[in-house]
Amino acid sequence: MDTHIFRVSWRLGLIDEAIGESKSHDALLKLVPPKDAFRFHVLLIQQGRIVCRAPLPECTKCVVQDLCPWHAKGGPEKRRTELAKNRLKAKEKSAKRAVGRRLS
Ligand code: SF4
Repeated sequence: MDTHIFRVSWRLGLIDEAIGESKSHDALLKLVPPKDAFRFHVLLIQQGRIVCRAPLPECTKCVVQDLCPWHAKGGPEKRRTELAKNRLKAKEKSAKRAVGRRLS
């Protein structure tokens, strides 16, 4: 399973994130008629590369924003907060190391 397809699919609520990448392929195939499977595959990859990116999606540019449960639940905002916290922790860690080096 392509990582873009997995991410976009669970964000859009097409699959449960908990099923994992390995089972998501079969779950998605059940949703789409075989004749549309390749186009669906390509569109999800494009969506994941261009708009619904990791770590942060660009929801303001997304044509399916009004259909997206992850967006509706504040997923992007929570993710933004999480990333900011991680950056702050990394800076604190780096500052502690720098102070430790100067004091030793
Ligand atoms: S609204 Fe945001 S999270 Fe939902 S599919 Fe679009 S880009 Fe992804």
